[in-house]
Amino acid sequence: MSEIRDLLRRTAEIAADYVESLDERPVFPPTTPEALRQALDGPLPEEPVEADEVVSELVAGAEPGVVALGSGRYFGFVIGGGLPAALAADWLTSTWDQNAGIYPIGPSASVVEQVAREWLVELLGLPGEASVGFVTGTQLAHVTGLAAARWHVLDDVGWDVGRDGLTGSPPIRLLVGEQRHVTVDRALRLLGLGAPTTVAADEQGRMRADALAEELERASAPTIVCAQAGDVNTGAFDPLPEIADACESARAWLHVDGAFGIWAAVSPRFRHLVAGIERADSWTTDAHKWLQVPYDSGLVFCAHPESHRNAMTVTASYLIQDEGSRGVRDAVDWVPEFSRRARGFAVYAALRSLGRSGLTQLVERCCDAAARFAERIVAIEGAEVINEVVLNQVLFRFESDERTDDILARVQAAGRVWFGGTSWDGRKAIRVSVSNWHTGDEEVDLAVEEFRAYAGQVPAR
Ligand SMILES: *Cc1c(COP(=O)(O)O)cnc(C)c1O
Repeated sequence: MSEIRDLLRRTAEIAADYVESLDERPVFPPTTPEALRQALDGPLPEEPVEADEVVSELVAGAEPGVVALGSGRYFGFVIGGGLPAALAADWLTSTWDQNAGIYPIGPSASVVEQVAREWLVELLGLPGEASVGFVTGTQLAHVTGLAAARWHVLDDVGWDVGRDGLTGSPPIRLLVGEQRHVTVDRALRLLGLGAPTTVAADEQGRMRADALAEELERASAPTIVCAQAGDVNTGAFDPLPEIADACESARAWLHVDGAFGIWAAVSPRFRHLVAGIERADSWTTDAHKWLQVPYDSGLVFCAHPESHRNAMTVTASYLIQDEGSRGVRDAVDWVPEFSRRARGFAVYAALRSLGRSGLTQLVERCCDAAARFAERIVAIEGAEVINEVVLNQVLFRFESDERTDDILARVQAAGRVWFGGTSWDGRKAIRVSVSNWHTGDEEVDLAVEEFRAYAGQVPAR
């Protein structure tokens, strides 16, 4: 057997052992930064080390600090997990090691993005001609979508931001919901647009459409509105039909953060939450959350391919780019990256592996598990669910901030399940996100029992 074959075989065994251990291992590893540092530290290696040794030492040093994010018992943040087909496709992505920037250095990488684009716009109910960019996550998807927005709204008033920049440009009005995700603010900052004006939200975190309409009526200026489909805490959806109406009358660009919530579109039971979303101008989502693609993988869609392309494209004398004549896709035209990983393969594999029905079931199973959790957790004395559970997110707390923190810390330390904390409406709360394809009744019931056990140890005060 050749050396590389031997190495890859053994690495595949290590990977399979890890994946198989996900059901048993602590969700958060019992480690410290010092211990990890000690295991991984050392002087800069002067001499080469055998690949085999590098890998086994990496495993020995790093695995103790790996969080079992792929486990069905992980309820923190909004994470997702690697579907087998997507994980395998991701390995092949590294193996083939294509440069997916332009067609000539990754023909299949380019075509797979075109096919996945068609599947995705159909699944998510977006306009058929919407353009797509495959980026690292929703953060960069916001940068891309909002760059297209910036280009478009300034072009509308006769300003070429690509040529003339922002110095001296007509000001752009930016309106965002009070509870938008922080990545929206950073995207605007990176684009030189500064801090947005916030529009009031209701108690679930939904932008108030009447407040938006009022704000829009104040002046007419090039305007970008950022709405949200799926609040990271409550899972709430901004009222998209009313927001789309207001944006239409004001000729404002509507950008929607659908990092996880946009996937409600695949379920007849939850589709009503995203009604009207197809009327937006740009959309962002993650494949590494609900679609169960390994990190990192985000998507941006734009209803104005020309503006999207104008905001992103680059050319150089040595690049071989298609001007659209052969219908060939060059990713440099659609994302802020140049050389890049062929992220489309894993997205394609996840979609192919689940199919429309598998994806619908996955989304519904997660939402059902969240509803089950919400229903059962309130049977514990002092526990209170504080959001309307509309999707896969639950927010709950105990009577006081102290008791909430204390119980959560004990549950986290025990390592059987993992939840993160947050604050909502000025009080401490515990976040529950069901976004892993493994999570079902068993995991939910285990989680509720963990809270029951530790709540019993912490007297109400
Ligand atoms: C996760 C999330 C983001 C950020 O996405 P990344 O993939 O981490 O860049 C933005 N908005 C919402 C609503 C999210 O849930």
